[in-house]
Order: sequence, then structure tokens, then C-alpha cells
Amino acid sequence: MTLATSGLHHVTAIAGDPQRNVDFYLKALGLRLVKTTVNFDDPGTYHLYYGDGSGRPGSLLTFFPWRGAPSGRRGTGQATTTSFSVPEASIGWWQRHLADLGVDVGKARSRDDEDVLTFSDPDGLAIALVAHPQGDPRAPWDSAFVPAEHAVRGLHSVTLSVVREDATLGLLTEMGLHHASDDGNRIRYAAGDGGPGAFVDVLVTPDAPEGLVAAGTVHHVAWRAPDGATQRAWREELVGQGVHVTGIRDRQYFTSIYFREPSGTLLEIATDAPGFAVDEPLLELGRALKLPPWLEPSREQIEAALPKLNLPGLDEEPPVAARQATDE
Ligand code: ZN
Repeated sequence: MTLATSGLHHVTAIAGDPQRNVDFYLKALGLRLVKTTVNFDDPGTYHLYYGDGSGRPGSLLTFFPWRGAPSGRRGTGQATTTSFSVPEASIGWWQRHLADLGVDVGKARSRDDEDVLTFSDPDGLAIALVAHPQGDPRAPWDSAFVPAEHAVRGLHSVTLSVVREDATLGLLTEMGLHHASDDGNRIRYAAGDGGPGAFVDVLVTPDAPEGLVAAGTVHHVAWRAPDGATQRAWREELVGQGVHVTGIRDRQYFTSIYFREPSGTLLEIATDAPGFAVDEPLLELGRALKLPPWLEPSREQIEAALPKLNLPGLDEEPPVAARQATDE
């Protein structure tokens, strides 16, 4: 075993209406929209990246949103919950904040030694906010909607639902993760030194339905590689283990390889570099539609096909009088 991922890089999910998605993740979760681009494999669809102030690996949840997308089904062979890390003293604040916005959020539960608040996003994607007793040293994004003291610190973990755990745990071990704890049918593995952002919970649910990937479900889970040379070496290693791995794909903000874990969830290994400031200034992340060089020649057609997005806190509607004056 030479693979040694240090933790989660990003989670990518499928959503319905892109405006509803932006409104929820900016206003309800207080994340920053760190990149507005398109799905490089399907440029008629947005690819929206949310994260911390600079979109550091481990803070990122990304979406392929399209209006009218059919709903998926949470189930086995899928990442069924995406968890974010929040401060221990902030769980009560989050419960009130989400309830005030009309989110159906229950009371916080204690699981192992963590406090957990679970709810769904507008498309039914299962989200948890988790307070880890040892805290989380990662710097928060101070948004207009969630004050820094309560803000999300980054991803905490993903939950993989499986019928049988053995083969999935075997692959996680190949990737350099190790067993951390057990809680009933929940087996926690950790990457590197562990802690929020480095956990994966394997939930053994033999009687659950098989998952169906569509709106409101996770498409794939990405793990960190420090650089391209390491990613190439890890790819060779996985191929040598008999894992069917894609070639290296240029995702503009990182490079990627993809493969399925034995229970069916699509995994990715993504590089830390170059990051989101590669094609626009840090202060302006997410405001303009960015395209990779190979799609720039088609910008006009791509922009015409995408619905316009209003960014809360950035693109507030001007007063009606001002709008009329501009129109005349
Ligand atoms: Zn990805």
C-alpha cells in the first residue's frame, strides 16, 4: 500500500433548479460560491462549486444542476449523507437558523461523541452538520448570511451505504485509510491523522433499497492527492490492484481520476493544485461564468443555453425605479 490520501477533496451531487441550489447553499449553509462553470462533459449544464473563502480542498461541495431533473433514490452503493463540520457551541444556532428558513430540521442527536444535525436540501440531498469534540482548526468563510463564529469549517465526512462492507473497507485500506471506530452498523475509517474532513462512515444496510443516482443524490466523492506526480503513481498502484481506473482528466482547477468502490459508489482522486484562483482573482471567485480554454470558442452558445443566475448578497435586485430608468 502506497496510496495515502490525506482526506476528502470534494463531493459532487446532482440538483434540480440551479437558482434554488445557489440560494440554499449561500443563504442557508453560508458557503461561498467559489466557481461558476459548466460540466466539462456536458457543457449545457452548470457546474457550481461551493466551499470556504478560497475553495480549499476538503471544503468543497459541487453540483450539476438542471431544471426538471428526475429525482434519484438514496440507497446502497451510494454516498447517502454529506456531512459538514461546525463548532460544538454552534449546533443550537444552526438548528434555529435552518428552522427560521423553513428547513425541516430536527433536534441535534449525539452519535458516538459528536453532535449531529440532519436535514435535506431543496432537492432531497441529505446533509448533516457535525460538531466534533476536538474542534476543527480550519478557517471559516465569513459570509453575509452565516457569521464566522458559527460557519461551516469544511466537509466533515461522507457516509457510504453498502450491503456488505468487506470489499469496500478493503479498497479504503488500499487508499491509505484506516479503521477509526465502530458505532452499531456504522464503521468509521479515517485518512491521515483523522479529524473532520478525513472521515468516511461505511453504513451497513443490507435491507435498504439500491440507490439511484439523479437529482438529490451524490454523484461521486473525491479524495485528495497532493500533486500530479503522486496522482499518477497512485493510479498505477490502483491499476496494479485490478481496479478499473479512468485516465487522468483535466478539470482546470485540479486533475482527476475516477473508479468505483466495490459497493458501487463512484470515487475520484483529485489534486490539490492549481485551485480556484487559477482563472480569476480570489476576491471575485464565482461571480462570472468561467470556461476552460477548450470551451471558450463556444462561450456564446453555452451562455445562451444556461439559465441566468442571481447571486444572493452579490446581485441584489436594483430598486424598481432604478431599473425603469435604466430601461429607458
Ligand atoms: Zn469530482
